[in-house]
Order: sequence, then structure tokens, then C-alpha cells
Amino acid sequence: MKKLYIDFDGVILDTIKVTYPMLKKLNISPKDEEALDFYYNLDWDHIIKQTPEINDSINCIKKIIKSNLFEVKVLTHIISYNEGLGKIRYLKSRVPELEVILVPKEINKCDIVNPKDAILIDDFLGNLDLWHKHGGIAVKFSDNGKKSKYITITKLDQILDIESVKEV
Ligand SMILES: [Mg+2]
Repeated sequence: MKKLYIDFDGVILDTIKVTYPMLKKLNISPKDEEALDFYYNLDWDHIIKQTPEINDSINCIKKIIKSNLFEVKVLTHIISYNEGLGKIRYLKSRVPELEVILVPKEINKCDIVNPKDAILIDDFLGNLDLWHKHGGIAVKFSDNGKKSKYITITKLDQILDIESVKEV
């Protein structure tokens, strides 16, 4: 079975949509060093509770698992222990059979798992470029359908309709 890794932030939950306005209120730019402190100290259980799902992501993941076409895992960058806990608690409560791999922010996703012939669905081009460079299949997630150089999907279950990724 083909390995399929799914990013969390910006693909499963729209955490940016909730945290960016909080940063703005504090007068911190997302690129500032202070933003790292902000994310480090965040109460992720609380944040996740108020964060909207993106395009029915959880049901889509259940559908993908049911298809038996892919070995599905979540592959997500984390800044803090608390962030990892929050994400695991959230995912395990909704899709208990789903495996979750936490990647420290300083390490590339393609250095934690072997990308060769595996699919990564991610909204961040930096992750996809590295994945592609190391022999993986990069799939861009874009909730607004903006085109990119990689196969682009706007809803996770669309991966079931892309023949080219199933055959590789
Ligand atoms: Mg992301």
C-alpha cells in the first residue's frame, strides 16, 4: 500500500486563521522572533477547540482510510510539547486508528520519514519542494484552489480521484 502523509496546520485544521488575529492583537508579526515565543506558550487544546476544520478534512481522512488505497499518517511540525499533545488528542478522539508523527520544527519532514515514492499533502511549498527533491510525490493543498507546480487539491478526498498518484 502506498504511504500517504498528511500535514495538519492549513490542511486538516485552519490554525493560522485563529492564531494570526491573536498575534495581530499583540502587535507581533508572524515573522518576528516573538511569534515563536507566542506559539511556544500557546494552549493548543484551547486553540484547537475553536479552530475550524478545513473542507470536511476529518470525514475525508476517514474516507481515504476506508478506501484501503493508502497507508495514511499525519506528519506535522510542532514547536512545543503542548502543541504535540493537543494535536494527538484531537486526532485520536476523531480518528483513533490514525497514526500521528510529530516533527520538531527544526527538522525537515523528509528527514523523519522516507519520502521515496510516498505522497505528502501539504500547504507549504517549502516542505513539498524538499519532499519532491528526495523522490517523494508532492501534492499541494490549497483551500482556495490556487494552482501550483505540483498536483493541487482543495479537499483531501480528491486524492482518491488522482490516478497518477495511485499508480506510481
Ligand atoms: Mg501546513
